[in-house]
Amino acid sequence: MITSTLDTKWMHPRDQITMVISRIYRRGLTTTSGGNISIIDENGDIWVTPSAVDKGSLTRDDIVCVKSDGSIIGRHKPSSEFPFHKSIYDARPDIKSVIHAHPPALVSFSIVRQIPNTNIISQARHVCGSIGYADYRLPGSQDLGDVIAAEFEKGFHGVIMENHGTVVGGADIADCFLRFETLEFCARTILYAKMVGEPSFLTDQEITAFEEQLPPLPAEMNETHYPSDEREIRNEICTIVHRACSQGLMISSYGTISKRWRGNDFLITPTNVPRWDLQPRDIVQIKAGKREAGKLPSRSNYLHQQIYEQHPDINSIILTQTPYLMAFAGSNGDYNVRTIPESWIFLQDVHTVGFGDHFAEQNVIAGLLSKNSPALLVKNDCALVTGDKLLQTFDYLEVAEFSAKSLIMAASLGTMVPINNDQVEELRKAFLK
Ligand SMILES: [Zn+2]
Repeated sequence: MITSTLDTKWMHPRDQITMVISRIYRRGLTTTSGGNISIIDENGDIWVTPSAVDKGSLTRDDIVCVKSDGSIIGRHKPSSEFPFHKSIYDARPDIKSVIHAHPPALVSFSIVRQIPNTNIISQARHVCGSIGYADYRLPGSQDLGDVIAAEFEKGFHGVIMENHGTVVGGADIADCFLRFETLEFCARTILYAKMVGEPSFLTDQEITAFEEQLPPLPAEMNETHYPSDEREIRNEICTIVHRACSQGLMISSYGTISKRWRGNDFLITPTNVPRWDLQPRDIVQIKAGKREAGKLPSRSNYLHQQIYEQHPDINSIILTQTPYLMAFAGSNGDYNVRTIPESWIFLQDVHTVGFGDHFAEQNVIAGLLSKNSPALLVKNDCALVTGDKLLQTFDYLEVAEFSAKSLIMAASLGTMVPINNDQVEELRKAFLK
C-alpha cells in the first residue's frame, strides 16, 4: 500500500529520487542493478542514482550530487549512464528530470527495433507524444549521450534505445515517472493486443476530436459541506485507488473512481493528480450537478452523472486501464468471459463500445449497463466497471482483468473453449436468481 506522497515542490531531490526508484522497482519496471534517475535543480546541480547500488533498498544518502562545476558529492560514484543524463539536460532546458530503465515491454520493442505507436490509447498519446529512436552505442559513453540528445533535440520526450531500453524526460520527476509508466503500459498493450488479434490504432484526428468534445466543467458550488459520511467516501476512494495502483490495475496517468453519496450526488477522483499520490482532500464533491469550488473533477464526470441518474442500483464506478483488458480494448480480439463460472457469474455479457461512444453528447454507455452487464470496454480508451459497494466493483475489475489475462495466456496454448449455453443457463438458475 502506498503511504507517502510524491511532492515535487517541497521534497528534496534525494527523497524524490528515492521514492520514485522504489516505485519503479516494486512495479517490476527495473532490475536491482539496471536503471537510473536524475533531477536537475535550480542551481544546475544534478542529483542522480549511484552506480552499482541495490535499487531495492536505496536510501536518500545513496543519491549522488554532480555539481554544475563537475565536482561530485556523495558516498558513491554517480550512475555510469550519467553522461547521457547530462547530455539531455544540455539539449533540453525544459526537461528537469530523466528516467532510464530496461522495462521488459519497451526492451521487447528495442530488440526488434520498433517504436511503440502511442496512438493505441488516446491518453497515452496525450501523455507520451511520439517516441524517438536512438541507435545502439556503448553504455556509459559520450557517444551514447550524443545520439540520445539528438533525439531529444527533435522535441521527443521519450526515446527507445536500440538493444538497450528507454529514456524519458519530464518537467519534474512526477511528470517523468507518469510518462515512463504510461509508455511501458502502452508497449504492453500493443504486445498483448497482438496475441489476441490485430491492434487498432487511433488517428491523430480521432484523438483531437476527443479533446475537443469534452463538455464544459460543471459550475462551482458556492459553499461545500463535508459531513462525516462524505469524508468516509473520500478515504474509501483513495484506499481503492492506491490498492488498484499497487495491484497493477491503475497507472498514474489514468483512472477514475466515483461513489454515490446522497441521491444523485457523488464523489469522484480529480483530473491531473497522479493516482499514486491521491489524497482524500483531492477528491471532488459533485452535488446537484455542481462541483466543489476550485477543483477539477475527472474529465468523465458527465458519464458518471448519467450513470447514477439512470441506474439507482449502481453506487460505484471504476474507469481504468489495465494491461490485459486494454489488449482487448486496443484490438479486434474477442473478450469472451465464458471462461470459468466465476467470470461469467460476475460479468455476464461484456459489451465493447467504439471510441467516440463515450463522448459527452452520447448516451450509449449508460444505456448498455444493467444488472446483467455491469462492465464494458471502450475501444482504445478504458474498461468501465460498475457495482453497488466500491469493494465489490473493485472485485469485478479484478475478475475482469484475470479473465483477460487467462485468455491472452491461453492464446499461446490453443483455442479457447467457452462454457456452453446449457452450462450458462445452469449457472443463471443456480446463482443469479
Ligand atoms: Zn541501461
